[in-house]
Amino acid sequence: MSMSLKYSVGDLTIHRVIEQETSFVPALEMLPGLTPEVLTENRAWMRQAKALDDNDVLLLCFQSYVVKTPHHTILIDSCIGNDKPRPNRPKWNMKTDDTYLGALGAAGFSPGDIDFVMCTHLHVDHVGWNTRLENGRWVPTFPKARYVFAKQEFDHWSAQNAKTEIPPFVDSVLPVVEAKRHEFVGNDHQIGDHVRILPTPGHTPGHIAITVGRGKDDAVFSGDLMHSPLQTLYPELSIKFDVDPAKAATTRRSFLERYCDTETLCCTAHFPSPSVGKIRRKGNAFVCAAV
Ligand SMILES: [Zn+2]
Repeated sequence: MSMSLKYSVGDLTIHRVIEQETSFVPALEMLPGLTPEVLTENRAWMRQAKALDDNDVLLLCFQSYVVKTPHHTILIDSCIGNDKPRPNRPKWNMKTDDTYLGALGAAGFSPGDIDFVMCTHLHVDHVGWNTRLENGRWVPTFPKARYVFAKQEFDHWSAQNAKTEIPPFVDSVLPVVEAKRHEFVGNDHQIGDHVRILPTPGHTPGHIAITVGRGKDDAVFSGDLMHSPLQTLYPELSIKFDVDPAKAATTRRSFLERYCDTETLCCTAHFPSPSVGKIRRKGNAFVCAAV
């Protein structure tokens, strides 16, 4: 498989940093609105695209993106992480591999090179490398970075965590705040003239997409507003982890319409490699076409 890991657009370079690309959850379980008939209609191309395995389990990529602007190096979504107790996900539980930091290094970056970390939302597979274990304590992995959290998203998980402890919030978000490396921002926040926030609620209440480019959206990082290319063809299909499935569906269609037939590079969090493409119309729906 040819694997594109680097894209140049405008005055930016974008690198994919892959931690895992693997089977995740059966399609019919992950997408409660998906019927066996629709799955059957789409099985051939999904298998061809490595979006579905031989047992109809969705294949997902878990990755960060590193964006280099003329001024800053920004890491978007920090994946799964090491040494974290995740008993419900054997592939993520107490991991000790060097895949992620190795991939970061192969892209030409050390943790100390990252100026900003941004999370599209605060789910387990988007915050993991925010911290690493050092002498029994969780410390920021990226020692010089400011970690940019959407205030609305942080407040949501803070309230949830107060009711029932949420381990990834406790081990991968709160230690950043305790180390005072955080910034809580509203949706009007920008970094220089290259990085902006696009509110995309539904998967979580404070979910954001992140748009980059000087004066125009050269690229957009869509986070978890969609997980499988099947959802570009059927934008009404929400996943079982969407906090508000109806809003997620509305957000997904309006996002796809916004970028349809534009030159904006859509960098998805979880689509199978190459994960990146341009949104194109197909009938009453869309595809993310590889570039
Ligand atoms: Zn995710």
